[in-house]
Amino acid sequence: MKLISVVVPCYNEQEVLPMFYEEITKISAQMKEEHSELEFEYLFINDGSKDKTLEIFRELADKDKRVRYISFSRNFGKESGMYAGLKNAKGDFVVVMDADLQHPPAFLPQMYNYVKDGEYDCATTRRVNRKGESKVRSWFAMKFYKIMNKISQTEIVDGAQDFRFMTRQMVDSILEMSEYNRFSKGIFSWVGYKVKYMPYENVERPAGTSSWSFWGLFKYSLEGIMAFSTAPLAIALILGIISGAASLVLYILAIVSACAGWIYTSLFVIIATVLLIGAFQLVCTGVLGMYLGKTYMESKRRPIYIASETDEIWRSRRSGSGT
Ligand code: UDP
Ligand code: MG
Repeated sequence: MKLISVVVPCYNEQEVLPMFYEEITKISAQMKEEHSELEFEYLFINDGSKDKTLEIFRELADKDKRVRYISFSRNFGKESGMYAGLKNAKGDFVVVMDADLQHPPAFLPQMYNYVKDGEYDCATTRRVNRKGESKVRSWFAMKFYKIMNKISQTEIVDGAQDFRFMTRQMVDSILEMSEYNRFSKGIFSWVGYKVKYMPYENVERPAGTSSWSFWGLFKYSLEGIMAFSTAPLAIALILGIISGAASLVLYILAIVSACAGWIYTSLFVIIATVLLIGAFQLVCTGVLGMYLGKTYMESKRRPIYIASETDEIWRSRRSGSGT
């Protein structure tokens, strides 16, 4: 018997959830027909949704015993949702996928084929285009991957996604990384293992809206850079050397200009220098501050998520009340 856990982080997904459930159960049945050893569990995470997502989970849990869920006490972000899912999944294999069908369940049979015999430890999709995305967003994404791969030892494949079919061994390795500032794209890559990238064309959401704003994505990319690279810390050093050299040149210039009697020129030069050095110092302090902030958050050792309800609590409450 082989158990596959399907982990699905959900934030305000009432519109697509029924569609998703229908799709995933259809694919599961198909896979079971082909491989009789397979069993499934669906582990939904409610990331503090404000709509009827939790109610839908309860309904699904009532009618299908394969459905499990964890409901957070508030919105903790998709990273926390994925972590909670991986931590609580019981499967020999774990799939992480979005609820919005942008990660098509139709990929699962093929993913299982790659992973089942140990040929690969992980099968994942890789977007070959960014259809349905704004030009500006694509441009920033492209730049992000370029910079990230230059300054970090952890390679992050452009277009790689959080749609992952993994072995238990890989999941356990990921869980060993219990850091608070989580950047999954980096974590998935950092743990290594043999990964199969399956190219696919981007699909748009059938319903609901994406919860990522441009600013949100920008902050997330900074998070990624800071979680997997300390290169920005070197900016301080480089700027220090440059400004030191520049001020040396300006001192010489000031002496020369004083000798030649260009009083005003040297004044301008001095003001410019002061401003420049001030700017450099602010940049350096800023960079240091950002890392210090992250270290501060890590040192608190806060839980990555807090669950306020699970399918077990719900089921026992229901059976307790005699319904
Ligand atoms: N999600 C989540 N918590 C959040 C934001 C999103 O669990 O705070 C889930 C969301 O329900 C979906 C997945 O993460 O299943 C991807 O989100 P979305 O479709 O909004 O992102 P996009 O596909 O636009 O990158
Ligand atoms: Mg989506």
